[in-house]
Amino acid sequence: MTDREADLAQVKGLIRDIPDFPKPGILFKDITPLLGDATGFRTAIELMASAVDGPTPEYIVGTESRGFIFGAALAYELGAGFIPVRKPGKLPADVHSAEYELEYGTDALEVHRDALHQGARTLIVDDLLATGGTARATADLLRRLGAEMLGYCFVLELTFLNARQQMTDAPVTALIQY
Ligand code: AMP
Repeated sequence: MTDREADLAQVKGLIRDIPDFPKPGILFKDITPLLGDATGFRTAIELMASAVDGPTPEYIVGTESRGFIFGAALAYELGAGFIPVRKPGKLPADVHSAEYELEYGTDALEVHRDALHQGARTLIVDDLLATGGTARATADLLRRLGAEMLGYCFVLELTFLNARQQMTDAPVTALIQY
């Protein structure tokens, strides 16, 4: 086993499955054991940082709420700024808002209108890629700000949902695939 494979196995071993949360039929990937493990959390951030190739992001864009945890740590590691993309009504200044589809109904995400300069090099970070609705709405906000999107970075990807196929605007990286 290479060092990288051992690191990935360590991270994977700290993510647990919770069946039927938040509702029946959903297998929830719980990352709280990973966050609580000092070595495991650091390993996850280092693996995400080493997955960033090409130009260094100026900003990590993290989606509420678990994207804040991994995104802020990754921003620190890379020497980048951190931009929060939040649920409606949380950000205090003028915002852009992007709606996205849920299984039942719609939700929205917001970003400050003055969060980024034109052409800012950004990387979108979240804990998990499922349908991709959250990530695509975040990308939509970045386009409206005129930012450059270097890619998407996730700890986990649920590949059976095929979100990647609809995310052709920038490279998608995930440490662990299910
Ligand atoms: P989606 O927009 O469908 O890609 O969903 C992504 C968001 O929902 C992420 O912010 C995840 O934290 C959360 N999420 C979706 N499915 C799961 C799951 N099975 N386990 C844990 N979190 C999930």
